[in-house]
Amino acid sequence: MLKITKFGGSSVANAEQFKKVKTIIESDPARRFVVVSAAGRKDAKDSKVTDLLYLCHAHIEYHVDYLPMFRLIEQRFLDIKEALSLNTPIEPELKQLEGRLPELSLDELVSRGEYFTARLMADYLGFPFVDAKDIISMHYDGSFNYEDTSEKLKEVLKDKKTFVIPGFYGSTPDGRIRVMTRGGSDITGSILARCLHADEYENWTDVSGFLMADPRIVKNPKNIERITYSELRELSYMGASVLHEDSIFPIREYNIPIHILNTNRPQDQGTLILDNISDAATGPLVTGIAGKKNFCAVEIYKNHMSNKIGIIRKALTVFEKYNVSVEHIPSGIDSFSVVVHADEVKSNIYEIIAAIKAAIEPDSIRLVEDLALIAIVGRNMNARPGCSGKIFDALGQNHLNVRMIAQGSDEMTIVIGVEDKDFDKTISVIYDRFSRDN
Ligand code: ASP
Repeated sequence: MLKITKFGGSSVANAEQFKKVKTIIESDPARRFVVVSAAGRKDAKDSKVTDLLYLCHAHIEYHVDYLPMFRLIEQRFLDIKEALSLNTPIEPELKQLEGRLPELSLDELVSRGEYFTARLMADYLGFPFVDAKDIISMHYDGSFNYEDTSEKLKEVLKDKKTFVIPGFYGSTPDGRIRVMTRGGSDITGSILARCLHADEYENWTDVSGFLMADPRIVKNPKNIERITYSELRELSYMGASVLHEDSIFPIREYNIPIHILNTNRPQDQGTLILDNISDAATGPLVTGIAGKKNFCAVEIYKNHMSNKIGIIRKALTVFEKYNVSVEHIPSGIDSFSVVVHADEVKSNIYEIIAAIKAAIEPDSIRLVEDLALIAIVGRNMNARPGCSGKIFDALGQNHLNVRMIAQGSDEMTIVIGVEDKDFDKTISVIYDRFSRDN
């Protein structure tokens, strides 16, 4: 049994958290390869080392005294080292880094958060340190070279049975450090899980997995025990973020489960993310509910549109021209609306409307603002009737007005649009309905 264990920033924020990590690693011999994020927030008032590193770079770029910022970062590592009585000589390396600061690339500088956190963690666990720069191989376009990474890992495994590796960065063929997008240590974990053929990828964070709904809206929502990659993608897209979305891609075809666990409550069950779960008859009808505010819809009405060809295409071409991504296109016989993120059209919505008018000469065109979209996601909805009935019954009984309805053709997600002001209530009502009878 082989597990890749990845610890997020809050799990390695200080010496206390390091101790929890050690207990977790030592309680299961399958946990041999450890990925760490950079030390994160110790509490709400604290800062993430990565944020400080970005800030430090901005100071350098704008010729503002950057040393106080660097000292703050340095101190985070020195505090952990001292509190755990570690021996790793990071001081000369930090000194050398300080000397090179003005000439360092942004990527190299921000990668140092993960680098030093991993150095300290390796020392504390008594595991060898392996640098991500020598292992995680990236193409110049930022995509991953799995073959090369696998080859490099084979070499490492010739003389190492365990290691700690920094997340978030790798290197391009010219040897330069390249960071991934924010939160990218999750991706490092899944690359390792793929290339080392792990049985499970454990992702340790500060929540006990995914919840059926946002706890800021619903009191004590139920934990999601198991979820498919596809359901997760739908929920993440709508704002339920625990895991970096791109961490699914490296392992999807290998069907390696991702287990989300809580470093502060290791006894909790967490959430298991799998490619496929066959529980159509017995599993939950709704897996999770997530949503986002701040959409808008351009509602277009054109008499006898049903007899004309190309109307929708022409309207969509306008959105494409303005580089706006379209979320949904609910339609009737003579009308359709185009739902987009309000932020994406903030500066040019009236230009877009004018361009649509010129392109298709509609009988009426109207902008509906302050729209919220809520996705009700469940892998078993396509096999069991009654889900939409329950949703709309609950909304009707609570006098909630539905502005839009959309269902993906896989019948895994029902999206409803309501006014922004009804957002919280709609989520609560739907959650209540399905937490009683799911
Ligand atoms: N430290 C990086 C960030 O804050 C990457 C990570 O934590 O996964 O985005």
